[in-house]
Amino acid sequence: LVIPDFPSFMADITEIYESLLPDRRGQVADYIPQLKRVAPDQFAIAICTVDGQRFTIGDFGQSFCVQSVCKPINYCLTLEGHGAEVVHRHVGREPSGLGFNELSVNGNGLPHNPMINSGAIMSCSLIEASLDMADRFDYVADTWRRLSGGSPVGFNNAVYLSERQTADRNFALGYFMREHGAFPAGTNLIETLEFYFQCCSVELDAGALASVASTLANGGVVPLSGDRVFSTGTVQKCLSLMSSCGMYDYSGEFAFTIGLPAKSGVSGALMLVVPQVMGIAIWSPRLDALGNSVRGIEFCKQLVAKYNFHVYDSL
Ligand code: GLN
Repeated sequence: LVIPDFPSFMADITEIYESLLPDRRGQVADYIPQLKRVAPDQFAIAICTVDGQRFTIGDFGQSFCVQSVCKPINYCLTLEGHGAEVVHRHVGREPSGLGFNELSVNGNGLPHNPMINSGAIMSCSLIEASLDMADRFDYVADTWRRLSGGSPVGFNNAVYLSERQTADRNFALGYFMREHGAFPAGTNLIETLEFYFQCCSVELDAGALASVASTLANGGVVPLSGDRVFSTGTVQKCLSLMSSCGMYDYSGEFAFTIGLPAKSGVSGALMLVVPQVMGIAIWSPRLDALGNSVRGIEFCKQLVAKYNFHVYDSL
């Protein structure tokens, strides 16, 4: 067992959870009504180890939309479909040092990396582009279903419609990248953007997201089912970019203090990967000024204070 004494580990996680419950700092995302209406003080933590031990606490039965947490999964799908050489003709792999939706491309006219909006829109242009829209979405939803080890995976249509309606910046990013010739030949920009909004509107609960994270921790094989969804090489590349770019403008600070690959989303979701050990999902909708879940970040800090999970703790 990777965590030999799971009961005492669960007790420690429970203790961290309880210490964070009174923390009401931060605000829920308010750029669309569907996120603004979410009860702000909900909090769930779910864990799944690479050998399938599981633990959940708090509001783990509540579903939330993945938002930016779709970015690493979509990036993995582009790598599976085309290989890194082709994918990175269209997207860089350097932190941008800018906000996640900043109107900016790198020196080659490409989005900086796949973990920000521009790069995630680019990923969408590269996923099964020859299929029609319905089949492309089915492919992504099926991937989430497999990654979650059989938990239900939903789609929040109201979030999708609202994202699409308030998407001026994402449209601007799309046109800006097209102006720079960044997209693959034949890309339908409007369809690509709609596909991106659909991917952000995939819904699951913390337990399912922990399974997704554990699959990344396990090199692409779902611990709960034994299903190989991604190759090890794909996961290695994805975790590298999550480590450098996954936490918005806090990515460098997160790499320094936590030292683990992670991805956050505006819904308050945070997916944390402890390679070869476990995946952790934290969901708490109140966000800090940089857009990360307040309790999510605090949880990560307390976790590495208690356990030697920081990548350089083993030195
Ligand atoms: N749907 C959001 C957007 O594109 C997702 C961004 C996020 O989670 N940071 O703006």
